[in-house]
Formats: sequence, structure tokens, C-alpha cells
Amino acid sequence: MSDYHLFKNLAYSGLRLDRAAANRPSAKQIQELGLHKNKRVLPIWNGQQLFDLVSGNMLALFSEEWDFEDRDLVFLGISESDIWFTVIVDSESLVERLKEVGDFGSLNSKVNNLTQHEAALMAYARGMIIWHLNHLYCGACGFVTNMKEAGHVRECDSAKCNRRAFPRIDPAIICLIEHPDGEHCLLGRQANWPQGMYSVVAGFVEPGETLEECVIREVKEETGIIVSEVVYKASQPWPFPSSIMLGFFAKAKTVKFQPDDDELEDIRWVSRAELKSFGELTDGKDLPKLPNHWSISRRLIDSWCEN
Ligand SMILES: [Zn+2]
Repeated sequence: MSDYHLFKNLAYSGLRLDRAAANRPSAKQIQELGLHKNKRVLPIWNGQQLFDLVSGNMLALFSEEWDFEDRDLVFLGISESDIWFTVIVDSESLVERLKEVGDFGSLNSKVNNLTQHEAALMAYARGMIIWHLNHLYCGACGFVTNMKEAGHVRECDSAKCNRRAFPRIDPAIICLIEHPDGEHCLLGRQANWPQGMYSVVAGFVEPGETLEECVIREVKEETGIIVSEVVYKASQPWPFPSSIMLGFFAKAKTVKFQPDDDELEDIRWVSRAELKSFGELTDGKDLPKLPNHWSISRRLIDSWCEN
């Protein structure tokens, strides 16, 4: 059976916005666009985002009502009636005013309240703001940087340097490994995960390796298992803080666990029947648990289990 349905609507994918990436609007163009479109702003404070007090839905502010300065706004894109921005909120008085109209919370904890588009938009905003906060100083000379090109470039303020930095993401692989018997898959857990949660192997891509080579290396390091037949499946934006998760399936050639590192505190081969007895993160039961439904890790597990 096709598993297309499992991967087509991953959380944080499915943004329905014109990013205008080839030709980002200038400050003047944004001002002109603002004359016949609403300027909507997604504020971010301390890594937290704003949600409606009652419904828990995404809360997008109207720029005019909150006196945001255009120069502080990071452009996200254009929809039919709105032009979208995000902004770093760091003034205590503004935070207090915002708390009167909304709740600040973590995106992952509220994602179930959001439409697919809203979740993707908030993830995009979060990714942009984290990038800005991590690039306030030039990586080459240490001088301060300034926001340019509607927030999609940071430029070093030193006339001798003027280095330009662009938003970046850190690719990470995530892989479901099938046992040679075809009846078990490999799951592990890190000590700092929610209690009882098991998931598939993941890790960051290093310079000078392909994604497939990264899968083989990470699985070997974390479990000692040798894998082959590494096949790409799907990806998920993961701005926690700045990744994209690249999902794979692979087949194990060996079965004995001999990890090189201690990233995983437990590793298991789990059968399809055992998987069905796993619980959910929120069920309060004393059972091994699977990751959230909306994560690519869970969809890889579900896909393997169904097939
Ligand atoms: Zn510099």
C-alpha cells in the first residue's frame, strides 16, 4: 500500500504564502504593498510565539495597532489580503501588553491547534528569528551586523568587512532501520526525551558526506548496526532550533548493538505487534511511547508498521 498519505501533510510543511524569494520587496515596496494589504505580524519573545487566549490558535497582530517599526520587521511573504512579517519582541512593556491579548507558548506544544498553513508559517517565522538572534555579530570579524533585504540578509557593519550572511538551516537525517528478518525495526531513546519515548535514529549531516553516507555513519555510531539500501522518503522543516529533518528507510546487515557513543540510553529491535502496544506521549500510561503523530519520526514508524 502506498504511504503517500503519511508524508503529504507533515507539520510545518504546506506554507501557502508567496515568499517573493526571487525578488524580495524593498522597504519602499513594502510600504506601498501595505497601502492595500494588511500588515500582519507574528511576534516572538524568548523563543515563544503568540497564541489566542481562548482558542489557542495562531495570533497574528495588525502592525498598525501595535506601532511596530517597519525597520524591525522580517518579511515572510504575501497572501491574498495580507503581507506577513515576524518580529523579535524584547521590550518588557510590549510583552506585558501582548500578554493581555494572547498566550506566549512553544510552537511544538500548540501545533495541534493550528491549521497546516499556520503551523508552517509559525515555523518559518521561528526559523528566521532564531537565525537573526544567532547572527547579531559578524562570524568573520566580530563586528555588529545589521538587517538588510527585508530581514533576509545580515550585513557586517565594518566598512573593512561588509560580509553578508544569509538564513541557514542545519540538515539532519532521520532513519527507520529494518531488521534483516523484515519483522522488526530499530528504536532507541535518549535520556533527555519525554519519559518512555522511543524513536528512530537521527543525526546531523557533516561537511563532506552525502545524506546516505550520513545515515550509515550515524546508525553505526549510535547503535553499531551496519545498514545498506538507504532510501530517501520525505522531509520536515524542524526549526528547533534550525534544522530540516531528512527522512530515510534503510536495511540492517547486522543485528548486534555495539554503539560507539552513548547518545542512546536504550536500543531495541521492536516487532510490528509490539509497536501496536506502544502508547502515546499524552496517554499517561506506563508503557513505551511513540513520538507525536505530526513528526516525521512517527510517520516513518507508521509507514513501516502499515507495510
Ligand atoms: Zn565583519
